[in-house]
Amino acid sequence: MQLMGSTFEITVVDDDAIRANKNIDAAVAEIKRIERLISSWDMALQTSEINKNAGAKAVRVKKELFQLIERAKSISKLTDGAFDISYASMDRIWKFDESMGQMPSDKEIKLSVAKVGAKSIELDAKNNTVFLKKKGMKIGFGAIGKGYAADKAKTLLQERGVSAGIINASGDMNAWGSQPDGTPWRVAIRNPMNKNKVFALMPLQNKAVVTSGNYEKFVRFNGVRYAHIIDPRTGYPATELISVTVFAPKAEFADALATAVFVMGKEAGIDRINQIPNVDCIIIDHKGIISTSENIELNKI
Ligand code: ADP
Ligand code: MG
Repeated sequence: MQLMGSTFEITVVDDDAIRANKNIDAAVAEIKRIERLISSWDMALQTSEINKNAGAKAVRVKKELFQLIERAKSISKLTDGAFDISYASMDRIWKFDESMGQMPSDKEIKLSVAKVGAKSIELDAKNNTVFLKKKGMKIGFGAIGKGYAADKAKTLLQERGVSAGIINASGDMNAWGSQPDGTPWRVAIRNPMNKNKVFALMPLQNKAVVTSGNYEKFVRFNGVRYAHIIDPRTGYPATELISVTVFAPKAEFADALATAVFVMGKEAGIDRINQIPNVDCIIIDHKGIISTSENIELNKI
């Protein structure tokens, strides 16, 4: 089914088909609820209230949204600002299609990120208020919302007694339990340079896996390939990597980190992932070279 701009596919292991379908319906309803909660575009919603009041006043929001913003802020800190939900304040000076005739100037690029910076998201946990300190500042959950929704749907299904399943959101997987035959769920890792070729099969035990990067979406200037994920600190698109796959206990964390590592690049990204317990990554750079964090063993096939 299409939700949050992604194709969600839910698999549950159950010997009762009616119960299995009921559980899937409940998970779909949960993902729809989350979509309403975090969508930044509908003016009626709390996120747009926050954005509208940037530079003016603090907005009281539901605890759930407050805590999501709180976690997003801490991921910014963890990634030295490579992940930042206030990326949404960037002027859209890069267009990743034919319409872009020339590269923006250094000055335009610098100016485009003037309002970005998670440090200017002020949180008051006592009152559940969010204040964006700069006028024109905006937040958006494009790089975390899908993972968050998948985690919520998984929790809901587990609470309903579903002992094993997979939430698949356009290839990002969130799994628990094991396959009906008792073996662990496994995920196929593809090289985006050669879409049909699976180069590794990785076990997924109570873990999520998220891939960031779009091999097709980029522009080229002076021989440099600028990808569609932009470094919110500089305004320049990331150039080094083609895809980043992150494994983590929670899909939300994996989602955010995949975007962050894409921005940070191979060396800084792997170095940071190595410092986070229970998190691993597989990176493919623009030359097609595959690298991994230190605790991962590629199950090459
Ligand atoms: P995709 O799901 O398209 O493969 P990501 O999960 O990496 O990609 O998310 C990309 C989306 O995240 C962008 O479309 C944008 O909405 C948002 N985004 C882009 N750059 C950042 C960033 N540095 N920090 C947080 N969110 C970002
Ligand atoms: Mg992401």
